[in-house]
Amino acid sequence: MTKKLVIFNWKMNPQTFSEAKGLLSILNTKYLIPNIEYVICPPFIYLSEVLKIKNLKLKIGAQNTFWAAEGAYTGEISSKMLKNLGVEYVIIGHSERRAIGETDEIINKKVLASLNAGLKVILCIGEPSRPKTKNLQPATKTKQYIKTQLQKYLKGIANLSINKLPNSLIIAYEPIWAISSSKNSKQDTPQDAIEMIKFIKQFLTTKYYLPSVKTLYGGSVSSKNITDFINQSEIDGALVGHASADKKEFTKILKILNK
Ligand code: PEP
Repeated sequence: MTKKLVIFNWKMNPQTFSEAKGLLSILNTKYLIPNIEYVICPPFIYLSEVLKIKNLKLKIGAQNTFWAAEGAYTGEISSKMLKNLGVEYVIIGHSERRAIGETDEIINKKVLASLNAGLKVILCIGEPSRPKTKNLQPATKTKQYIKTQLQKYLKGIANLSINKLPNSLIIAYEPIWAISSSKNSKQDTPQDAIEMIKFIKQFLTTKYYLPSVKTLYGGSVSSKNITDFINQSEIDGALVGHASADKKEFTKILKILNK
């Protein structure tokens, strides 16, 4: 059985490194199980300290990167720097970054720069709202939106000389209306998430010859609903945001996944 992938995005939390260490030790010492791969994405400022922790049994990702390989870009951090530090994954295109001005073009450049640097890209996609058809399935319009997003974000990947591309690209399907930071957010249903994830996988296979890209669900995942999503064979895992930075909720999620 292929391992499920569960990614924890701490966003701009916690406020001190000692709290971050506390959260990490819950996962690193008690709750590692062989059929799930865990990735923690802490804020930049904690990355090098986290990577120094001995016997770290989980993978580390960054929440962002920059699109240029090097140069005069004050305040930015390149994918190559992250790779050289020992970071393995990077989240790109998160809706919270799109909301503060990150454009499709920038996202595309970041994807290419990160793949070239040897990072695994967790590419976030998702529609701002979902019109429903009469039979309550995600509408054709939603699928069209996702298709266009993928085409824009993945422009030029066919030209990359990366033979491990299927393993270096992970898609996180995160409908924006389902993300906890969206106004009146509510989680998607596993059925609709499956339909969208099947569509994404089919599109990646036919358009880019990428038949085995892991595709995760994200959007208000918590201890209450994580198994509803990750127990589905079509869903390869989950991207968990705010719940992963809350000690109680994080512990609950890990306990549930450990069963
Ligand atoms: C996320 O940060 O990618 C996310 C899905 O957030 P939340 O789980 O808080 O909705």
